[in-house]
Amino acid sequence: MDIYRLPAFKDNYIFLLHDRQHQIAAVVDPGDGAPVLQCLEDLGSSLVAIFNTHHHTDHVGGNRQLLKHFPEAVVYGGSQDRGRIPEQQVFLQEGDRVSLGERSGQVLFVPGHTRGHIAYYFPPADLEAPEPWGELFCGDTLFAGGCGRLFEGTPSQMVNSLNKLRQLPDHTWVWCAHEYTLKNLEFALSVDTANAALQQRLVTVQALRAQHQPTIPTPLGLEKLTNPFLRWDQPALQAAVHGQTSEQTFAHLRQQKDRF
Ligand code: ZN
Ligand code: FE
Repeated sequence: MDIYRLPAFKDNYIFLLHDRQHQIAAVVDPGDGAPVLQCLEDLGSSLVAIFNTHHHTDHVGGNRQLLKHFPEAVVYGGSQDRGRIPEQQVFLQEGDRVSLGERSGQVLFVPGHTRGHIAYYFPPADLEAPEPWGELFCGDTLFAGGCGRLFEGTPSQMVNSLNKLRQLPDHTWVWCAHEYTLKNLEFALSVDTANAALQQRLVTVQALRAQHQPTIPTPLGLEKLTNPFLRWDQPALQAAVHGQTSEQTFAHLRQQKDRF
């Protein structure tokens, strides 16, 4: 499965999953149809599935346009998003599976940013490979160095959701839907000041962004070491934001980030 990262709008990414052998593709969160159609044309492949993570327009706005060109494509989304995702046909729940060719993905229910948000996790294709990597498409739940705003969920829901993602293997590529990494890491360093891995990561990301290079995907192992929104149980971070518990630490971090 090849993955193409298509920039859209100001800072969105749309991901096109391509099965070269069968010349079929799926797309994750097509906020806009045009770049997806262009990529499909370049590949000479047809679209068989649209995987939506949540109902926001910058993630589903291209659904109808894509269906006009590929009426056979199946539109997937979370069961709690019924009525909110254009042309949705399949209503997914935690533990359900989706597929593209021989590759199969698991659905994770990760509410918080919105109440119906889901993520798609594709475990490594070949576990015998020397370094097997999985792929995580997490929409606006986990970002590189940050997490989504709580529009429809509570801190407790989001901590549970992020904890679920944190349990995936370090060798998982995180494909999140926005290029927010630089700003996220600047905030992260303001609360996790002594974190050497984070300091180093900020330097790397500053260099990439100065060249207008993308910072996505990012390894989940690096997120676990540097993303404060996966580190609410670290004593240094709890002390920095005066959190007594993981949930309170997360809530304080999120409030501070909203004002950053
Ligand atoms: Zn969103
Ligand atoms: Fe978004």
